Amino acid sequence: MPTPLAHALAGYALSRLQGGPRARSAVPPPPHGADLPAAAAPPGAPPLPAARRAAVLIGVAMLPDADLLPGLLLGQRNLLHHGFTHGLPFALAVAALVGVIFRHRWGAARAAGTALAAMGSHILLDMLTGARLGLHPAYGLALLSPLREGSVRLPLSLLPGTGPGLLTARNVAAVATEIVLFGAIALAAARLARPRGEGA
Ligand SMILES: [Zn+2]
Repeated sequence: MPTPLAHALAGYALSRLQGGPRARSAVPPPPHGADLPAAAAPPGAPPLPAARRAAVLIGVAMLPDADLLPGLLLGQRNLLHHGFTHGLPFALAVAALVGVIFRHRWGAARAAGTALAAMGSHILLDMLTGARLGLHPAYGLALLSPLREGSVRLPLSLLPGTGPGLLTARNVAAVATEIVLFGAIALAAARLARPRGEGA
């Protein structure tokens, strides 16, 4: 599986892209320096600041791996890993909850849609992780868990993921790959979202 760092950077990139230049140019900038377009939140509700949106989406993008915690506490890392928190029903439920919680300050549809994208990014990255990179089957996930437990495996692996242990050569290489790849994606997203004329 990718490390939490990769999922966090994916969530951050989404937070930047969902408030990008197209939406920015469609409406006047909101008051108080918040960069969320005013049209995204109902009139009268102060828009959710960009930093809060980023924190929410980073948390959502990392959320499925909360199923590691019981195993880590019991000394069996993968005891419950890749269970229902990695399934589409859970992703839809989390997206709906985020939409309800932030309906006034973010807009229900926009908050839910972006949260679903963050959950989807986690599922996609995990599905693209495998023991051998290239046209080799990835580890796979039970996408319909808990409704159905059959695992879906993609026929290619693009991410090495981490294994047992901490500072093993495999894990260090995996983290380095993630820093370069997802760091570049996050930087590109931040640059794309920057208003025209701001900085070089
Ligand atoms: Zn995961």
